[in-house]
Amino acid sequence: MTRSERAAVLAARLPIIYPDAHCELEHQTPLELLIATILSAQCTDKRVNIVTRQLFQRCRNVQDFEEIPIAELESIIHSTGFYRAKAKNIQATVKQIIEHHQGAVPRDMESLAALAGVGRKTANVVLGNAFGINDGVVVDTHVGRLSRRLGLSRHADPVKVERDLARHFPRHLWALLSHWLIFHGRRRCMSRNPQCGSCELLDICPTGARAQKGATPP
Ligand code: SF4
Repeated sequence: MTRSERAAVLAARLPIIYPDAHCELEHQTPLELLIATILSAQCTDKRVNIVTRQLFQRCRNVQDFEEIPIAELESIIHSTGFYRAKAKNIQATVKQIIEHHQGAVPRDMESLAALAGVGRKTANVVLGNAFGINDGVVVDTHVGRLSRRLGLSRHADPVKVERDLARHFPRHLWALLSHWLIFHGRRRCMSRNPQCGSCELLDICPTGARAQKGATPP
């Protein structure tokens, strides 16, 4: 089976397996999603959601995020880890948004990726989920791992994985593709002990086929 053929099967099957796949970071606005995604670095979505429920009560717009004392911001986001760097980046980001984008989160990759603490992955999350713009594919640890196991990419570099995925899946599916792979990575194809024997993708997965013969999935 070629990569394109496998991608076509996945595009048909994953929406049936995960009809409710979605961004698991709770948000009401593009700004909230941007802040939540910055906080999600090295942290679970579940923990971020607990923190943002309090944070978004305290800070409702860019001005609030700019004016909140940094010690208070650090205290609220403390449990997400790397809280000093994240607090600094959040305040630098909202300052840039106020000064260069009239207080509104920009809607293009170049402007988003230029914000403090915002890389290509965060920009793709915001574009795809807050604005419905499929500019690229979000490649996090789950998407990278599953892409390699499913034979969609052989690369470790997220940018190269993204390029491979973008080549084999139609653009209108890019945001959903990340959600499907993340859902599958959390529920079936975990980093350790993937459940290949009961996996819905076993028949098309080269790693699963090897695992059935006794090999340990990478
Ligand atoms: Fe992951 Fe195994 Fe399923 Fe392949 S068969 S996607 S390695 S759980």
